[in-house]
Amino acid sequence: MGRLVMKFGGTSVANIDRIRNVARHVKREVDAGHDVAVVVSAMAGKTNELVDWCRDASPLHDAREYDAVVASGEQVTSGLLAIVLQGMGIQARSWQGWQIPIKTSDAHASARILEIDGTEIINRFGDRQEVAVIAGFQGINPQTNRITTLGRGGSDTSAVAIAAAIRADRCDIYTDVDGVYTTDPRVVPKARRLDKIAFEDMLELASLGAKVLQVRSVELGMVYNMPVFVRSSFDKPGDIDPHGTPPGTLICSEEEIMENHVVTGIAFSKDEAQISLRQIEDKPGVAAAIFGPLADANINVDMIVQNVSEDGKTTDLTFTVPASDYNRARDTITSSKGKIGYIRLDSATDVSKVSVIGSGMRSHAGVAAKAFKALSERNINIRAITTSEIKFSVLIDAAYTELAVRTLHTLYGLDQT
Ligand code: ADP
Ligand code: ASP
Ligand code: MG
Repeated sequence: MGRLVMKFGGTSVANIDRIRNVARHVKREVDAGHDVAVVVSAMAGKTNELVDWCRDASPLHDAREYDAVVASGEQVTSGLLAIVLQGMGIQARSWQGWQIPIKTSDAHASARILEIDGTEIINRFGDRQEVAVIAGFQGINPQTNRITTLGRGGSDTSAVAIAAAIRADRCDIYTDVDGVYTTDPRVVPKARRLDKIAFEDMLELASLGAKVLQVRSVELGMVYNMPVFVRSSFDKPGDIDPHGTPPGTLICSEEEIMENHVVTGIAFSKDEAQISLRQIEDKPGVAAAIFGPLADANINVDMIVQNVSEDGKTTDLTFTVPASDYNRARDTITSSKGKIGYIRLDSATDVSKVSVIGSGMRSHAGVAAKAFKALSERNINIRAITTSEIKFSVLIDAAYTELAVRTLHTLYGLDQT
């Protein structure tokens, strides 16, 4: 007997039939004798609709009220799943973030979990054999008593945090793909499912665009050393062998992985915008004049490339920001133009970032060089490059994203054979 967290994403709870299917998965684990806490997302498309409603109501809405609205999607699915489970004769009770409570920071729309008291849930496992059905994505700020949400995709983070809080043996993330692949299987049909992936690699994949898990959930998995298993909710509950290992991907510590490839996977993000400042003065303090105001405006700058000055007087500087922050970034820079002292601002929003990830890169040279050659053979122009110990990223025209991902996927031997 063990203790499990089972998390179901939006597609898995998209309608009552799918919620019934989820309930059968839960029953399967309960029947096997496990204590179960379930974390649910909102029905597919619901959160987008709620976000759109807020924007419609007012483009500059109050973030506290945004959270009050968008948290409601998970309230509905947690209640519905509890109803269906009860109908199947299983003791079940829904829990909203504030009821547990899941205490978070007050950064509305992107709050961080600070503390979860798992005592009541654990007690109810013992006293009543009750399944806890927890609304993902939401929490409460203890100072203001207001509902918060954890950022898009945040139910993954709720699930891993709850797994840590109730000292679960494993956190199962049920989604609409049967594991983590070498790249998005919807874009590259030849992508291969990974049996295991190290937290470090998964962290990079997630932060560089693979939305299968929210970044913060992987961080928590790593901190608490919580095994996270990504699997499909579409596998028929009746077909699953209770003693076998179902198809899926285990995210675990590096030591548990025997096979070590140089490249683990490829991620991409179309949510990028590029800003280039031409002929800025090449003198101390210029970078601070540019990036200080951007930081003050809470804009995350990602890639930064500064050209070597030819004449010792002026240079060009390029950086990227999330596409959603592009207008604000541009306004912030133009309003500091006098201080920065540049001649021209060029920008592009139809760009994307393609990243190659692998902890094996630490001990291998020339991995990136191979990619630059392969991309040039496809006539794909690289606008900017960044590298770190276990990944490198290139910024390219968005129109070439799929071609670049497929090219690199083949180049590094990741294609399914
Ligand atoms: P859920 O609603 O269950 O949280 P998401 O849509 O957030 O599901 O995440 C699952 C999706 O992530 C898949 O449908 C897939 O298109 C996408 N994805 C992107 N990169 C990968 C990858 N490397 N492996 C698996 N899925 C990926
Ligand atoms: N429903 C939320 C979203 O769509 C949280 C999640 O699905 O993880 O972002
Ligand atoms: Mg998700």
